[in-house]
Formats: sequence, structure tokens, C-alpha cells
Amino acid sequence: MSSWNTRNTSSPELFEVADWVADQFRSIPTAQVEVMHYKIVQGPRIPADKDVVEVLATFPPNVQAGVQPGIVAMGGHMDSINMTGTDVFTLRAPGANDDGSGVAATLASARWMAARPHSHPLLFIVFSGEEQGLLGSEALAARALKENWPLEAVLSNDIIGSSENLAGQKDSGHVRVFSPDNSKTESRELARYIEWLCRRKGPHGLRVNLVFREDRFGRGGDQSSFLKYGFTAVRLVEVEEEYAHEHTPNDLPQFVDYDYLSKNARLNAIVVDSLSNAGPAPTRVRMDRRQNHDSTITWTAVPGVKYVAYWRATTSPTWDHFKEIGAVDHVQFPMLSKDDNIFAIGSEGGIPVEAR
Ligand SMILES: [Zn+2]
Repeated sequence: MSSWNTRNTSSPELFEVADWVADQFRSIPTAQVEVMHYKIVQGPRIPADKDVVEVLATFPPNVQAGVQPGIVAMGGHMDSINMTGTDVFTLRAPGANDDGSGVAATLASARWMAARPHSHPLLFIVFSGEEQGLLGSEALAARALKENWPLEAVLSNDIIGSSENLAGQKDSGHVRVFSPDNSKTESRELARYIEWLCRRKGPHGLRVNLVFREDRFGRGGDQSSFLKYGFTAVRLVEVEEEYAHEHTPNDLPQFVDYDYLSKNARLNAIVVDSLSNAGPAPTRVRMDRRQNHDSTITWTAVPGVKYVAYWRATTSPTWDHFKEIGAVDHVQFPMLSKDDNIFAIGSEGGIPVEAR
């Protein structure tokens, strides 16, 4: 992707890149590929109104699904930008890490998941317009709301390929997952689940750093468009960013750590695999409030669905304990304080639901 001079959303190259991405998806059997059109309007980073494109690849469930299973989505953005000069539409913008890395992870995960069983629909998105103000994701999220898509989770991968910066900081063992303080979506719980899943089934040598914020200071990402429309979304981003490489001619393939990028791609695939095979989330997850030394949780179970109980101290950000409890509708933990711990129940592979 870096071999195009630029992938600026306003450049003619954008259409070539979109064609290339669409062909990559079309080479995967069962992919339903859509090149989605939307309009961008003249602004600070847009020279003129224009009809532009981004690419969607959907994979319908290939095993028996439950009742209207939610769509599991992940993506990255294909557009790049060079902000070192005035002619930002023709300047060299290789964008290897921002966000060639996220697109690579998206294509790789799509190839892997297409051949695996999944009872939920999968949606792989290669956005454009990100650098002009999240325009592609805005168009898609607005459409998803209008058309009532049951979007269950969106993983936005943006700058996930480099493990060191020019200040000498290096970390190839962690990836940051940003989630907002936003009780209207399950984003924080999705992030917490990703951290847990990574510890349990993740790629060797990778752990998640949870960051309880929507994004970094002064920066944005496509997850925000989905959050705005009430969808659950998180952002994955490397730990040691090099700002001198971002949005410059120096965002080059030689600065990508391919082993690190591969681990981050695998984490995405593992999360998509997990969520897309999960039964429906439990409803009415309730803590028995009677005063005793036990913690007893009940919920409305779906027959045949297996559940997992999770718990952590009220001060801990992560699910430090869990127990597989099978196809039941209640669980009791003797001698474990309900007041000093937070409990949650999740369907196996799904986002845990806190007991209240
Ligand atoms: Zn980006």
C-alpha cells in the first residue's frame, strides 16, 4: 500500500487503493464485498466536494446461528496523509503504519476467519476519510444506525505496527486498547474482555494495556464515529508511537515491526473468533442482595448456552478471576464477598455482563 505516492482521500489514488483492497477481499471465498460510496465536502483538509469510496466485506454466518446474532466488526483505514507541507493532496504519504498496519491486520483476520466456523455475521471494514475527520466511519456508522444493523462490537485498528520510537522507548509486548467512559455502550466491557482473552488465549508475548479513555490527547480514530451513534467500539494502537513518522513522508515500511504487527493482527482474529461464536449475552444478571458471606448471581439463561463467571476486586480494572460454570442460570460463590468484588456473567466467548 505504501507504493502509492499517497492514499489521500481527495487524491485519484484513493480509488485505485480501494479497488486493490476490494480485490483482496474478493479473493476470499464467501466474502460479500461492497465498495461503499459517500460524499465529502470542501473543508480544511478537503480541496473540493467529492464522491469517494471505502470497502466493506461481509461474511454471513457459516454455522447455525442464534436469534439475530450481532455483527462482529473490525477495521482499519486505507487513507494516508502528509501534513508537512501545504499541498497535502499530492505530497508523498506512504502511511505504512498509519494505517497500512490496521488494513493488513483486517485483511489477514478476514482470510483467517472466513475459513473458521462463526455463528455471527462478520464485517471487515477498510475506511477512508479518517484523516479528514473520521468521515468514512461517520458515513458507515450513520448508515448502520439508519438501517438498524445489529452491530455488536467494532475493533478499530489504527497505528498498530511499530514497537519503538525515536526517543529509544521500545515495547513489542503490549498493545493499548482505548475505551471511553460511556455507559451507553458496552465499549469498556469489550475492552476488559479483550484484555482477559489476550491473557488466556492471546498470541505468545502480547498483553493488553487498557486505557480508560476514548483516544489519545488531540487525536482521534474511527471508533469515535461508532460511539457517537451508540455502538460498542474500541481502538487498538501501539504503545510507543513515533509522532515524527505519523502524517509525514517517513511513515515507511522499514519502521514497521512485522512480528509485532503479526501479534496484534492475531489478537484481533482471536477476539473476532471468540465474539462470533458466542451465545447471546445473559440478561437480567442480578446479585442476591441478602446479607450473608456468599455471592449468589442469577440471570435469564438461554437453554444450551454455556456461561462463564468473572470477578475482580472493585479497584481492579481487569477480570482477575473466572470460572466456567456451564449451561446454568445461577451460580453461588461461598465465602466470597459481593461487596468487595465485582462479578459478571458472560456467555462463553461473549462480552461479560456485570451483576447488579
Ligand atoms: Zn490513522
